[in-house]
This record gives sequence, C-alpha cells and structure tokens, in this order.
Amino acid sequence: MRRLFIAVCTGSLLAFACAHDKAASSPASSSPVPTPPLTPQATGQGGAASTVDVRATAAAIEILKGGGNAVDAAVAAAGVLGVTDPYSCGIGGGGFMLIYLADEKRVVAIDHRETAPRAMSREFFYEGGAPIPMMEVLTSGLSAGVPGMVRGWEVALQRYGTRGLSEVLQPGIRVAERGFEVDQFFVDQTTRNVDRFKLFSSTARVYLPGGKPTPVGGIFTNPDMAKTYRLVAEGGSRAFYQGEIARAIVDTLTNPPMAPDASRKVRLGVMQLADLEDYEARVREPVKTTYRGYTVYGVGAPTSGGLAVSLALNLLEGYEPASMSRVDFLHRYLESSRLAFADRTAYVGDPEYVDVPVDGLLSKAYAIERRKAIDPARAAPREVPAGNPFAFQVDPSPAPRMAATVPAVMGSAALAAAELDTPDRETTHIVTSDKAGNVVSYTCTIEFEGGDGIVVPGYGFLLNNELTDFDVPKSPTAPHANIPEPGKRPRSSISPTLVFKDGAPVLALGSPGGSTIITTVLQTLVNHLDFGMPLLEAVAAPRVSQRNSADGASQAEPEFLASPEAAALKEKGHVFGNAGPVAGMNAIGAVTAIRFNPDGTVTVVAEPKRRGGGSAMVVEGAAK
Ligand code: GLU
Repeated sequence: MRRLFIAVCTGSLLAFACAHDKAASSPASSSPVPTPPLTPQATGQGGAASTVDVRATAAAIEILKGGGNAVDAAVAAAGVLGVTDPYSCGIGGGGFMLIYLADEKRVVAIDHRETAPRAMSREFFYEGGAPIPMMEVLTSGLSAGVPGMVRGWEVALQRYGTRGLSEVLQPGIRVAERGFEVDQFFVDQTTRNVDRFKLFSSTARVYLPGGKPTPVGGIFTNPDMAKTYRLVAEGGSRAFYQGEIARAIVDTLTNPPMAPDASRKVRLGVMQLADLEDYEARVREPVKTTYRGYTVYGVGAPTSGGLAVSLALNLLEGYEPASMSRVDFLHRYLESSRLAFADRTAYVGDPEYVDVPVDGLLSKAYAIERRKAIDPARAAPREVPAGNPFAFQVDPSPAPRMAATVPAVMGSAALAAAELDTPDRETTHIVTSDKAGNVVSYTCTIEFEGGDGIVVPGYGFLLNNELTDFDVPKSPTAPHANIPEPGKRPRSSISPTLVFKDGAPVLALGSPGGSTIITTVLQTLVNHLDFGMPLLEAVAAPRVSQRNSADGASQAEPEFLASPEAAALKEKGHVFGNAGPVAGMNAIGAVTAIRFNPDGTVTVVAEPKRRGGGSAMVVEGAAK
C-alpha cells in the first residue's frame, strides 16, 4: 500500500489528492485548496472518478481511498461541485443518479428532480393570455422548483452507500471554507451573469465581491455554503427541508433579496414550507434496451434522456456501420435522433401525471415501424411529427395517475422549453466506480447557468430555475404531457447511461448541455461502439446534434462544420447551425465516462478541452 502511495504521488495525476491528504491531516490549515494540472484520462484499478473539476474528482478519490464506495464518492464529488461549479449544480437543485450495484447485479435510478410547488398553476407562466417571455421567468422566484438534491443524496447514501452525509460533505465544507483558485471558466460564467446577479444583494455578496467577479487566480471562498453543508452534515435532510434553511428558501422566493439599485422587479415564487417538507426522492426502475449485443441502461421519466437514447439506438440498430460509409451512418444517426426527439417532446412528462408510453417507445417492433420514416438518401427538411408508440404498448402504464391528468399529446401545440437551451452552460456529470465493481453515473443541475440567479441569503447557495423545463403551450388550455401542474416534475433531458456486455459493465457516461445531453450521449456511444474510437477520442470528437427543431437544422461545433463529413451531409440535405464556440470553447456538452477494460482495469476520461477540461483519476494507476 505504501508503495502504491509513493507511485501515485510521483505522478502529476493525483498530485492534488496527495496534497489534499496532507492538508487534511493539518486541520488548522486555512490555505486555499491547491489546483493541480488537469488530466483527461487515467487507467488503473481500485476505483475511479471523473468530473469537470479537479477538486471534485480528488474528493471522490479521497473517499474511495478511505474505503467508501462509488455512491459515497459520487455524493462527495457533487458536494464539492456545489462550491467549485456552483452555477451548474448544488443543493438548490436536483438530479438523476444511475447506480450499478455489483453485489446484486442490478441497476437502480434515483430521481431527485425538483418539483413544482403545490400552489403552481399553469396560468402562472402566462400574462394577458400569452406566455411570459422566458428570459423573465428564468430569473425569478416563479421558476424555482423544490430542490431535490439533499433528499436524493440521503436516499442514495442510506440505501446504497457506506458513509453518511456527515462524512461525504467534509470535502465540500473544506473547499467552501478554505477557498479555491478561480479559473477562466469560472470567471466567464460569473461575467455572463453579472447583470442577473446584481439584482440580488445576496447573490452579489457571494459571487461579486467588491461588485465584480473574482479574477482568474483569485481565491473564492463561500463560508455561508460551508455553514449550510455543516447543518446538513449534522442534521441530515431534515435540516434542509424543515427548519431554518427551509424557511430561508421560502422567504427568498416569496420576498426576493432585491438589491437597493436593482434595475427591474422579479416575479415572486409560490413555494411554501409544506412543499419542502413533503419533497421525496424516487427510487425508480431504470429503462433498458439492447444495442448490437450490449445492454444499455438509462433513467426513465421524468427525464426523457433514457427513453430518447434508447429509441434512437433501437432505430440505429437497423443499420450496419461496417456496410456503409461513415457519412451514410452519420446521416442515419442524425435522422434517428430527429425521430427520437419528436417522440420525446410529445410524450414524455412526469409519469405520476401522464401515461408515458414507455413499452411502446422501447419496443423493437415500434423501432422497425418508425424507421420507415427515415429516408436513407435525404435529410428530413423540417420538424417531423411524433410517431404512435401507444400502438406498441404491452401493458397500461403501471404508474399511478393523479386527478389532474391530461393525455400525452403531440407536441406541435407546445412551445418547447428546449428553445431556451444554451448548450454547455448548465449542469454537470459525475462518474465513479469502486473496487467492488459498483458504478455511478450521475447528472446534477440547477438548470440555467447560475439557476434563477438568487442566492439564499446567509446560506450561500443558488436556487434552481428548473420549472422552465416545463413546456408552455401557446395557450394555457392546450394539453401537453409536460405542462406545469402542482407537485409535478418538469421533463428533463438528463441521460446518465450504463452499458453492459454479458452482464458486466462496459461503459458509464453522461453529459451536461440541456437537450443536447441526449445527442452528446448518443454520439459518444456511436463514436465508441460503432466507429471504434478509443473512449477519450469518442468524447473529444466534434459534436453534431439533431433535435427536431422547427427548421430541421442540426447544431454542430465548428470543427464538425469544417469537416468533409459535414460537406457530404449537406449534399444529402442536412442544414447545420453553429453551436459554438462559447467563450472560446466548443459548446456542446462535457462528457465524463468510464470504460471497464477486459483485463479488470478501468480507463476513466473527462473532456480534454470543453469547459476548460475535466479531471479523471483512478485510485491506483496513472494518467494514460
Ligand atoms: N434542466 C436541464 C434538464 O434537466 C439540465 C440543464 C442543462 O444542462 O441544460 O434537462
């Protein structure tokens, strides 16, 4: 063990973890948590972790080295990300966690999506009979759902972890208290939000110290966040959903802490203490399909991610990549994604409110029927209509229905929330594995970059604006599977994915990026499984995303637009919008992933460039 420690500490990969260990052994230390170089790939054993942030990855590794499992490590990483990547995730938001339990050989999903308060009404998103401009809803009390994060963490740890919140939140407390060195990405994110953050005295106090973003190289601390984590570490989820934090959340939303010189008013929220007290995370069955001999698991409704990825794979499975050119296969990838998006937008909503045709969407027979809508020679020129998966349902949906249900209908009447997406500006994905073979693929979010822009005064965390993920049809009386209703969870695109072969894990992956999450996961799977790219190359490759927008266009990164494939696809009628760069970086998604190698090692990867590059580490092994 000693030998391993020395080996690991001489490599740059785990320099942070080792520095961190030293710091942890000196509790009096108040120096900032160091920032080592990022490494996008590592191979080894004993456990692995990858996140967008080196401190979060190191926290996961620290927990694994201390004997914690993959679930403990994922929650520890999420706790740190709530401090270092606070505009993407945090305890003011929610997420979906997909877990492989090696002992039991089964996969479970923990849905801790935010919910609409019980006083929510669909009319709240209209004024004078027309939808309120979404940019106004984004920064408001109205768009905040009841946060699911803390309950989700607690459920995950109690059911599947080996450590408690009191232990796994320690790395997050440490980083919040001692601070960390700010990088360009953090500055860019803060700068893009200055006008919003200035509206609220609490947000300006935390994120605009002295009225400005902390500059690159400056040390950012968040003692209020450390205090909040301590309360949760000591009191569990009760400390968050009842008592002083809950009261502060309700006060913040119903009486926002406006700055004296705020340039505009914001809409008030309707969340009450009972909404917080009643919040429940759901342990759900995953959705599952097969693809060329692999078994692919994802999370089902209320996220559309698992269903859309599964349907697109089922469509693609009808084509043999070896028997056609890469361009011809990419054409089918784009058209399969287009069809999957048509169905996902029309039919997926909170399964406790609408009958989502899960069996039909996952049916191989439905895929055969639906594939007939793909022209092998030409791209669809515009938005395609949804298919009819209901005809392929095996059973009625087993989900309980509540009184205020509406049937799922075609999405054409709806103004898709996806229209507001700004790819790669929100959300984050964590992957972890442990020496026992457990695996976690976990996406967490506060929705828009910086959520609703409102920090809970004195508690240091931003609240989400996840309710903007509801669809707002042109008229408040138009039915849609994803309209706002009291207590409902808005549809998500989050797509944590696990791939197995012969019962053993092969891959774990996921991404941020709004509705591009689905295509990023899909394209990474195609790159790796169909085109045979090594995992890091599959992740780094230029992205192209087809989401059935009204004009029929796909969004692509500049490198893809400049490729010969793009030129050949244009010949087939494909139209591309430019999806980047944003702040000097490519703009679609930021994957983290693990490959389980046949020799028992794992290769864990993070983005080499997007979002400034992520951090992949193993417990025993090296950066390679
Ligand atoms: N709110 C988005 C969703 O749940 C995630 C945030 C994002 O990455 O855009 O699908």
